[in-house]
Amino acid sequence: MDIKKLVKPDIRSLRAYQAEEIPCRVKLDANESPYSAVSGQRSAIGFKKNLQALNRYPDPQAASLRKLMAKELKVKPQNILHGNGSDELIYNLITVFGGPVLYPVPTFSMYGIISQALGERKIGIPLDNEFDLDTDAFVKTIKRRSPKLIFLSSPNNPTGNCFSEDRILKIIRQSKGVVIVDEAYQPFSDRKSFIPLIQKYKNLVVLRTLSKIGLAGLRVGFMIAGADIINEVNKVRLPFNINSLSQKVAEAALQNKKQMRTDIRLIISERKRLFKEMGRMDGIRPYPSDANFIFFKAENGDRIYGDLLKKGVLIRNMKGAADSCLRVTVGTPAENEAFLKALEQIL
Ligand SMILES: *Cc1c(COP(=O)(O)O)cnc(C)c1O
Repeated sequence: MDIKKLVKPDIRSLRAYQAEEIPCRVKLDANESPYSAVSGQRSAIGFKKNLQALNRYPDPQAASLRKLMAKELKVKPQNILHGNGSDELIYNLITVFGGPVLYPVPTFSMYGIISQALGERKIGIPLDNEFDLDTDAFVKTIKRRSPKLIFLSSPNNPTGNCFSEDRILKIIRQSKGVVIVDEAYQPFSDRKSFIPLIQKYKNLVVLRTLSKIGLAGLRVGFMIAGADIINEVNKVRLPFNINSLSQKVAEAALQNKKQMRTDIRLIISERKRLFKEMGRMDGIRPYPSDANFIFFKAENGDRIYGDLLKKGVLIRNMKGAADSCLRVTVGTPAENEAFLKALEQIL
């Protein structure tokens, strides 16, 4: 029996997300924080008590976690929905609204992968030369194809920049579908968040995650939107989507934001240092970043990626997204130093 023939054509042509573990000494490939946001908070997490409570299902509403996040983001708890990472919320949004799904390219790969997995049409519009949104092309496509969903990652993964505020606003205003501003990297940017605008634009959704600020292993993400959107997406959310331990640990982290803020500040200052040092190297062109990683062009990107790995430094080869481009996550000062030294030696 040929199992492949039983699989829906859209899924047959998909490839599983490449998340294999490549052994390395310095891991700078996945935009994780080098710092755990809950190191030193063991007592606050109360593992003994919470492990005993594992016979019970988790709180399906994640009420106390949502309340804390609402306070942090200055919105009402009814404007927040929790996901098992923001990936899950992207899945839920596409499940609810369907396609066509529109996004710029290059951008976060999951928008396209999930659209395809759910059998929805997807449309990618190339970014302009400054990696900003090509508003004319967006407006034209909005008129012609009426996308149900538009995903804008700002700061954008993998290019690292924020899109211009006025361009995002224009797209929100022109769209007759839902526009999602994915702010996974917003804590590393000095631009204003789009969260306050959910009051004004009923078709706006903002995504946030704890993954890039020290808790990637927990799988906790949030969407912020008007109650109408929240209520619809909540219909397809699996009831117990965030496990009890993740809820508790996330709460502990949000109750002690001081450490998180300090870590973010250090990452930003290291990003600036990396950018400067990389800019001095012949054949390397780093692009300005508002995120916790740097996108860069290198002569012979493939070889540099491989040579870095031979020296134990793992970064991300972005050749699929842009010719001869690579992406390095900002690590600890020592990790960044190891990366710079290895890169210099290779060049
Ligand atoms: C990493 C990333 C996410 C995924 O976050 P999770 O909460 O870990 O699922 C979402 N959007 C963008 C743009 C990302 O880079």
